[in-house]
Amino acid sequence: MEDLQTKSRFQRICVFCGSSSGKKASYQEAAVELGKELVERRIDLVYGGGSVGLMGLVSQAVHDGGRHVLGVIPKTLMPREITGETVGEVRTVSDMHQRKAEMTRQADAFIALPGGYGTLEELLEVITWAQLGIHRKPVGLLNVDGYYNSLLSFIDKAVDEGFISPTARRIIVSAPTAKQLVRLLEEYVPEYDEVTSKLVWEEVERLNYVAESEVAT
Ligand code: AMP
Repeated sequence: MEDLQTKSRFQRICVFCGSSSGKKASYQEAAVELGKELVERRIDLVYGGGSVGLMGLVSQAVHDGGRHVLGVIPKTLMPREITGETVGEVRTVSDMHQRKAEMTRQADAFIALPGGYGTLEELLEVITWAQLGIHRKPVGLLNVDGYYNSLLSFIDKAVDEGFISPTARRIIVSAPTAKQLVRLLEEYVPEYDEVTSKLVWEEVERLNYVAESEVAT
């Protein structure tokens, strides 16, 4: 019975979040709550590595609950004084681009907790990749205490002004608590704009790769 209640379609979720803890206790509580929710549903974590800010809280909660934690860190961010200690497995990559590619490859879904520029950049990139059909993985926004209300209003304005399609708007799933958000992500079904559904990324990437190697030789 318990198995049926806690079984998830996701094996591993990538969490983007602040390298700072934020001023309100509710942000820190939400990071721990999200970690516990992943543990309860037997989902492993991939994140940017280290122990700073909300990143440290969510990874520690998942690790303490006995689930696997994978931290993906660019070499330059490795010194302990920058990121602190990483719990679980550490994978070193050469740069920030490789880190995002690796985190995207490893995860079945993405969740953004409150954060700053880094979090926004990571979130918007996975949304853009979903819009282009590069992946079909759900993207969730944990809107703790309305932290992301103004971002969501801006995105709605972009829809009204004709810069984001209503289909692309629906890529973002948001909820105020981890429990609600994970439930919505479990139910998420990707939709595609007509043009996107015709793109075949593996082929495009292979051709680009061949073109670049030909230029190089
Ligand atoms: P921010 O939201 O600006 O605090 O940036 C958080 C995101 O950027 C994280 O998800 C990390 O991928 C990356 N990041 C920024 N600062 C650090 C740091 N000191 N150690 C590890 N990752 C970091």
